[in-house]
Amino acid sequence: LYQSPPMGPQDQPNYYNAVVQLVTDLAALDLLDQLQAFEQEAGRVRLRHWGERTLDLDLLIYGDEQIQHERLIVPHVGVLERDFVLLPLLDIDPELQLNGHILKDLDIVKHSALTVFDRTNWANI
Ligand code: ATP
Ligand code: CA
Ligand code: CA
Repeated sequence: LYQSPPMGPQDQPNYYNAVVQLVTDLAALDLLDQLQAFEQEAGRVRLRHWGERTLDLDLLIYGDEQIQHERLIVPHVGVLERDFVLLPLLDIDPELQLNGHILKDLDIVKHSALTVFDRTNWANI
């Protein structure tokens, strides 16, 4: 679990970021539906673009598929620009490559100031 300063509007709290890898029988769009249902269950309300939200579940990678759908672009468009996505992703697979990039060699990864969330403070989230 990492913590990062907000993207977009700066007058909002820091974010907690994590990446999970999972095996699923769901097709990509059905998985997106399920992720969005989890967001709703968590009480997500959209206040403003890139603004504060209780939970944001993005589908980063789906096998080696490239998806261009009006509701779903995979790999997620922000992956290569966001250290708070890249570092937890690399924890799962340090050798991961995406769109011809060796992720661990990206400048944004090498120079990241992202901090790991102190697990002793879990109760304070
Ligand atoms: P960003 O996508 O830049 O991280 P965000 O997560 O704040 O921004 P949302 O408001 O959560 O954006 O999502 C807007 C729409 O993005 C969703 O309704 C969904 O249809 C679409 N979308 C496209 N590709 C993806 C993806 N890979 N994962 C999740 N949502 C996606
Ligand atoms: Ca997002
Ligand atoms: Ca999202």
